[in-house]
Amino acid sequence: MIAHNPNNGILRSDYVRQKYYREKFNVVAPVQVYLGINKYGDKAFCHYIPIKETLRSLFQNECVVQQYQNPIKCEDSVLKDIVDGSVCHTNNFIKDNSNCLKIILFQDAFEIVNPLGSAKKKHKLLGVYFTLANFYPHNRSSVAQTQLVLLGKEADCRHFGDDKVFGRLISDLKDLEANGIQVANDIGVKGLVVCIAGDNLGSHYIGGFVESFCAEYMCRYCLATRCEVSAKPFTGQSLERNRENYSAAVEFLDSNPTENSHEGIKRDSVFNELTYFHVTSGLPPCVAHDLLEGLLSYDLALCVRYFVRMLFFSHDILNGRIKLFPFCGSDAANKPAEVPPNGDRIGGQAVQNWTLLRYFGLIIGDKIPNSDDAVWQFVLLMQQMTALICAPSLSYAQVAYMRVLIEEYLESRTTLFGEVPLRPKHHFLSHYPSLTLKFGPLIRLWTMRFESKHSYFKHVCVLPKTTKMSLVCWPNDISFIKHISLLVTSSVRKLSFDLQHPFMQICIVRKCRILSRTSVSHLKILLYVTVFV
Ligand SMILES: [Zn+2]
Repeated sequence: MIAHNPNNGILRSDYVRQKYYREKFNVVAPVQVYLGINKYGDKAFCHYIPIKETLRSLFQNECVVQQYQNPIKCEDSVLKDIVDGSVCHTNNFIKDNSNCLKIILFQDAFEIVNPLGSAKKKHKLLGVYFTLANFYPHNRSSVAQTQLVLLGKEADCRHFGDDKVFGRLISDLKDLEANGIQVANDIGVKGLVVCIAGDNLGSHYIGGFVESFCAEYMCRYCLATRCEVSAKPFTGQSLERNRENYSAAVEFLDSNPTENSHEGIKRDSVFNELTYFHVTSGLPPCVAHDLLEGLLSYDLALCVRYFVRMLFFSHDILNGRIKLFPFCGSDAANKPAEVPPNGDRIGGQAVQNWTLLRYFGLIIGDKIPNSDDAVWQFVLLMQQMTALICAPSLSYAQVAYMRVLIEEYLESRTTLFGEVPLRPKHHFLSHYPSLTLKFGPLIRLWTMRFESKHSYFKHVCVLPKTTKMSLVCWPNDISFIKHISLLVTSSVRKLSFDLQHPFMQICIVRKCRILSRTSVSHLKILLYVTVFV
C-alpha cells in the first residue's frame, strides 16, 4: 500500500508506474499486426513482440551475459545439448560466428476454453515462443525465461497465411543473421534460428508438409511412402529429405497449381527464407508426444492386456500396487495414473507414463512367472530404449546402441502384436538415432517446458465469475493479456485497460462463458503481488 501512496509512492500515478516498470522490468511492448478482414467481416490481428528488442532486454540481465560469455565446452564424442549436434557443427554461420545467438523457436496451438465445449476452435490461439541454446540446459527448462514472440488466433493465421503472420518475425530474423544487434556493453552479436520445436501437427504446418498422418508421404524426415513404412518401419537413410528434394517438390507444385501436395509437401515454408535455416533439417521431434504419450502409452497397454489375459495379474491388482507404491521426489509428483481395464492406452500424461515404465518391474514384476516371457522381455526392451532416448547426455556409441534397440523394438512389436497395426509414430521413432546426432539429446528439445507456458496463460485467461474485477498482470504477460482482451471484446459488456501500462489493469464486467470460475486463487495471487510489489 505504501507503493500506492498518492504523495510519494513509487506506484502513485500512471506516469510514475509506467516509468518505474520500464526501468525495472525491461518491458518490451507488443506490436499489433493487421492481417486483414476475416470471413466474419471483422478486422483480424496478431501480436508480435519484437524479438530483437526482447534479446536486448534479456542482455540487461547479468546472468544472461555470464552464460553467453561462458558457454559449456563441447566434449569429443559426447552429446550433451543441441550445440553438440551436427545441425550446429555443420552450420557455416556458426562456424564463422562461434559466439552467435542460437535461437530455438517453439510454436503450438492451444485452446483457452473447454476443448470439448461449443466454443472449441473459436478461440484457439497460435503461440510462438523462443529461448536461446546459449543458455545452460538446466536454465532453459525454466518457464520464466521462455519468451513470447507471437500470438494470434489460429484460424486467422491459417486464413491469412504465413507471410502476413510471420512476416515481421522473419524480417527481424533476417536482420539478425545479416547485421546482428548491439547488446549490453555494446557487444555486437548476430543470431540465427537453429531449430523450431513443436508437436508433429505444428511442425508439419510450419514446414509446409501435409498435416494428415494417413497421407501417402506422412514423414517430414524421409520420403518413405505409407506402404513402405507399413512393410518395414525401420527405413534406411537413403530417402532422407533435404533442401534439394524439398525445392524440387515446391517447383513441381508451382508448375502444377491444381495439385494440392507433392511428396508430402503442400507449400514452401516461410522460414526457408532464412539463409541458415531449412525446415528439412530444423524440425526436431518431441519425445513427450511421440514416445511417452504416444507409443509407450499404446504399447504398454498392449502388454498389460496380454499379462491380464494370461492371468498373471488383474487390472485391479496392478492399480492397487501403483496406488500403494512409495514413489519419492519428482516421481511422487508424477505418480502414474490408474491403468483403465478398457481402452487402448494406459491413459496417463507423458511423465506419468514414463514413471510407470521405469518402475514397472518393481511394481508388478514378481507376478510374471517366467522372466523369459517374450512380452515381458519386450517391456524390458522398452525400458532400455526409453532410458537412452530420454538421456540428458549420450556418447556416439550409445546412439549406435539406441539404433539397435529401436530396430529390435519395432521388430518385436510387429511380431508380438501383429494384429494391431503400427502407427506413424513407430516410423518416426526409427529416425531418432540420426535425429539425436543432429540435435543432441532429444530430451533437451521436448515441448513440455514450452507447453507449461501455455498453461500459465490459460490460467490467466480463465477468470472467476465475479461481476467486476481488476486484474493486474506481470509485465512479461502484457502482450498476451492485450491479445486475449481483444479476442474477448465481443463477449464482454465492458472492457477497459491501459495498454501503455506495464502493469496493465484490466477491468472486466463479464457475461460470457469464456470466463469460467476455476482460477479464483490464481487471481488472488496476482492481486496480492500487485499490492505488495
Ligand atoms: Zn521417415
